Amino acid sequence: MVSRVIPVDEFDLVIFGATGDLARRKILPGLYRRFLAGQMPENARIIGAARSEMDDAGFKTLVREAIDEFVDKSKRDAEQIDSFVSRLAYVPIDATGEGGWDSLKQLVRQDVVQAFYFSVAPSLFGALAERLHSNNIANSLARIVVEKPFGRDLATAKALNATLAEHFHETQIYRIDHYLGKETVQNLMAVRFANILFEPLWNSQYIDHVQITVAETVGVGGRGAYYDRSGAMRDMVQNHLMQLLCLIAMEPPYHFDPNAVRDEKLKVIRALQPVPADDIVRGQYLGHKRSDGTGVPGFVEDAENPTTKTESYIAMKAEIANWRWKGTPFYLRTGKKLRARTSEIAITFKEPPHSIFDAAEGWRENVLVIRLQPNEGMNLKVMIKEPGPGGMRLVQVPLDMSFAEALGEGGTDIPDAYERLIMDVIRGDQTLFMRGDEVEAAWEWADPIINGWETRGDKPQGYDAGTSGPEDALMLMHRDGRRWREIKE
Ligand code: NAP
Repeated sequence: MVSRVIPVDEFDLVIFGATGDLARRKILPGLYRRFLAGQMPENARIIGAARSEMDDAGFKTLVREAIDEFVDKSKRDAEQIDSFVSRLAYVPIDATGEGGWDSLKQLVRQDVVQAFYFSVAPSLFGALAERLHSNNIANSLARIVVEKPFGRDLATAKALNATLAEHFHETQIYRIDHYLGKETVQNLMAVRFANILFEPLWNSQYIDHVQITVAETVGVGGRGAYYDRSGAMRDMVQNHLMQLLCLIAMEPPYHFDPNAVRDEKLKVIRALQPVPADDIVRGQYLGHKRSDGTGVPGFVEDAENPTTKTESYIAMKAEIANWRWKGTPFYLRTGKKLRARTSEIAITFKEPPHSIFDAAEGWRENVLVIRLQPNEGMNLKVMIKEPGPGGMRLVQVPLDMSFAEALGEGGTDIPDAYERLIMDVIRGDQTLFMRGDEVEAAWEWADPIINGWETRGDKPQGYDAGTSGPEDALMLMHRDGRRWREIKE
C-alpha cells in the first residue's frame, strides 16, 4: 500500500532560523521529501531567514548540504534537488532589528497560504510576531508555527501565549509537539475509535494500569547547559508524555475535528491529580573515570555544573480523577543514557473475574503494547494453552503486528513527524498541534510538582548508564505489586 498524498494549496513558507540545527536536520530535508512525494504545488516557495549574511545561492548550497547529510541516499536525485532548490530564497533578518523586513515583504505573496515557522529561541517569538504584523507582511489568515519549549512554567507559557495573541488569533497559531506528528501516535486514535474491540474495555474496570516509557540511549551531550535549565520533566513529561497520556485517556471526541480532539485532551489534563513526592523518582546518569584519567562523563560533567540537581530521568505515578480512570494509575518514565532507545505505551488489563482452570499456572495479564519506536506497531499478549500433552497449562503469546509489515510496501515510506506537521499547517489542520489552554493546563499540573522538589532541594538519585534507571524507580512499581516492562529494543 503506497501512502496517499493529499494535495495542498499554493504557499509561501518563511523559516526563521533557517540556518539552525532544526531547520537543517528536520525542516528543510522534510520539505524536500514532501516535494519528492509530489505534495508541493508548482509555485510553492520556501524563504529562509536568519541573521547570517547570505544570498539565495548561499542558502541553496546550505540546503543541498542538508539534503546530502539528512536525506536517505535512495531519495537524493540531482534533478529533483535542482528543482526543489529553485523554489528557495533567503533574506538576512535579525528578529529584533528593523533591517530586512522590506525585502521579506517583497517576497511574501498575499494571495497564497502564508506560513511563518519560528525555528528560533522562544525569546524571539514576540519580536517576530510583532514585526510580521507591523510590517504588514502576515495577512489575517497567516499561520505561525512555534517550536518547543513553550515556556518553562505556567507564568512564562501564559506570557508567551499573550504575546502571540497580540498579533495572531489562536486559529493561526500552531504549537509543534513533534510527538503528535508520529504515525503511531495518530494511530492511537484510530485504534481506539475506529474499532469496537477496545473501547468497551477502556476503563478502570478492565485496565489495571498503563505504562508510558520514552527511553533514550544518548546523554545530553553538547546540550548540557541548556538541558540543565530544563530537565526530563520540562523537556519530556510536560509535553510529549502528557500528549501520549491524553490520547490514551481522553473520551471519544464527537468528531475528528481539531477543537473537539483538543477539548477532550484538555479535560484529561484538568483531571490529573497533584503528584505527591513519594510517587516521583528522579535520577541523573553517572559517569566513570578510569585510572588512566580517561572515562565517560556523567550528567554532572555534561551539564558542566557540579551542584546540578536537574534530572536526566524521571518516573512517576499519575492519577486521573474521572469516572473512566479512577483507580487506574498511569506510570510514566523517561530518561537519557538508558539501556535501549524505545518508546512505548503498555496497557495492562486486569485478571478475569474467575479462573475456570484449577491451577492457573503460567497465567499472565493481557497486555496491549503500542510501540512508537523502533519498529512502530502493536502487540497484544494473550493466553493460550501450552501445546502438548501436559494438561491445561497456560502460556502467553503475542499477537504481533509491525505497521510497516502490515501495510506492505509504502508502510515504511511514511512521512517523518515534521514533514507531516508542516503539511498540516499548510492545510490549516490544527488537530495535531497543542492549543494555548492545553499547554497552560499542562504547566498548571507540572508547576507544583517541580516547585515541590525545588523547594525541598531534592537531589536526583544516580544511575549507571546503560541500565533501566535508578533503583528507586523499581520500588515505585513494586510497592503497588506491579513491575515495569523491560526496556529493550
Ligand atoms: P540553533 O541551531 O541555535 O539555530 C537558531 C537559528 O536562529 C539559527 O538559524 C540562527 O541563525 C537564528 N537566529 C538566532 N538569533 C536570531 C535573531 N536574533 N534573529 C533571527 N534569527 C536568529 O537552534 P535550533 O536547534 O535549530 O532550534 C530552533 C528552535 O527549535 C528552538 O526554539 C529550539 O528550542 C527548538 N527545537 C529544536 C530542536 C532540535 O532538534 N534542534 C528540537 C526541538 C525543538 P543566525 O545565527 O544566523 O541568526
